[in-house]
Amino acid sequence: MGNKKIHRVPADQSLAARRKRFYEDGGCPIHGVAMGQSDGWYDNDPWGPYTIISCGRNGCPVEARAFSPEGPWDLLPEYAYLIEDETIEHSR
Ligand SMILES: [Zn+2]
Repeated sequence: MGNKKIHRVPADQSLAARRKRFYEDGGCPIHGVAMGQSDGWYDNDPWGPYTIISCGRNGCPVEARAFSPEGPWDLLPEYAYLIEDETIEHSR
């Protein structure tokens, strides 16, 4: 007991900071660390083959598509709100 790992969360959780962590580094928008491949490769997308990467830190559910190990990356739709401008979200 008492050995549960806790991953630190960056203090800056602004949309700009989250976008930078995700789009520039392929990291989790919340935790800012690289996400690991958690699935096989799919080839049914017009953008090309992709796989699924996920965070998992502190039980973090964030998942994204990765079109190569160096990106581009695309958050799954259910997590897109993490990096979306609220004004866009509210205008739907
Ligand atoms: Zn995370």
